[in-house]
Amino acid sequence: MVSKLNLHSEISKLSAKLGSDLNLIQGAGGNISWKEDNGIMWIKASGTWLAQAMEKNIFVPLKIDILKQQLSDNTIDTDAAKALADESYSSLRPSIETSLHLVMPHKVVVHIHSINTIAYAIYKNFEQKFSALLKGYNIAFVKYARPGLPLTKEIEKTLHTKPDILILENHGIVIGADSAKDAEKLVHEIEEKIFLMDKGIIMPDIQYIKNLIQNSNYRLPKYNEIHNIASDEFNLGIAAKGALYPDHVVFLGSGIKLYNDSVNLTSASAPCYAISGKGMIVRNDLSIGAELMLVALSRVLNKIHSSEGLKYLTKDQEDELLNWDAEKYRQSLNK
Ligand SMILES: [Zn+2]
Repeated sequence: MVSKLNLHSEISKLSAKLGSDLNLIQGAGGNISWKEDNGIMWIKASGTWLAQAMEKNIFVPLKIDILKQQLSDNTIDTDAAKALADESYSSLRPSIETSLHLVMPHKVVVHIHSINTIAYAIYKNFEQKFSALLKGYNIAFVKYARPGLPLTKEIEKTLHTKPDILILENHGIVIGADSAKDAEKLVHEIEEKIFLMDKGIIMPDIQYIKNLIQNSNYRLPKYNEIHNIASDEFNLGIAAKGALYPDHVVFLGSGIKLYNDSVNLTSASAPCYAISGKGMIVRNDLSIGAELMLVALSRVLNKIHSSEGLKYLTKDQEDELLNWDAEKYRQSLNK
C-alpha cells in the first residue's frame, strides 16, 4: 500500500510534470486531488500553479464527510472543511473545483485544460468527435456550466455511468484513476488519441508593431507564439467573436479586441489588442498568468480548421464568471 507521504510526493511530482506542459496546463489553471483512507481529500489551492508543486506546498487537506454534507446542502464552504489548522495551510484557499474532485469516486483526480481537448470541446458536435476517438474508454460528456457548484451538479448527472473520463464542454477534461501513475498514463494515452496537428505559424510584423507601441501602455508579448492569434487572419476572425472557455474570460475578458486608428494606446486599458495581419500587443502590466491564457488561445486556434459549429460562451455565461468572487480571488493571486 502506498503510504500517505508517498502519495503526496508522487502527486507533487505528477503535478509539476503536467503543470510544466503548456499543452495541458496554463498558469494557475487545472487542478489535482487525491483521497486518503482516513477521510481526507487533498486538493490544489486556488490561484497556485501545478508547475510549482515541487517548490512549495500547493495542496490543502479537507474533510470529505463535511464536504459531502455541504454538497447535499448546496453550499460549499471549503474553509469550514479544512482538516488541519496548521499555519502553512491557513493562507491557502482550496480550489474553486473542490466539489468536482469530491464527487469523482477515484483516489486520484486530474483536471486539466488540455489544448487538444479544448480544440474539440468548443464545437457543438464534440460528443460525436470524442466518442469516435476514444472508443473503449468509460467516458461521459458534461454540459457547460460555471465552474464550482453548477459544474459539479452537471457532473453528478453523468456519474451513474461510472466514467473515468469526463469531457467538459467548452472547458477541458477530468481524469479519475487509482494511482498517480495510472492517472499520468491515462492523460498521455488520451492526448495521443486526440492529438491534432498544428496548422503552422504566420510570422508577425514585429517592426510594424514596435513602431505602433512606442511610449504607449502596451508591449510585445513575452511568448512569440501569441502573435499568431492576429497574424493569422482566420484565427483572428474566430478569436474576435467571443470567448470559448472560462479561463479566457477570467483572465482576459471576452473576445480579443481589434486595434484600429481610433484606439489611443497611451490611455487604453484592454488587456491586449490584435493588430490584424500583424500580431498582438499586451498591456505593459499584464500578468504572466494572463499572458499564458493567450498562449493557450494561440495553441487552440492553431489546431482549428473551421469556424462552423463553434460554440462560444454566451454574454450571461461570461458575466457570471466575471462577477464571481471566487474567481476574483484566484485572479488577484496571479497579478
Ligand atoms: Zn477548469
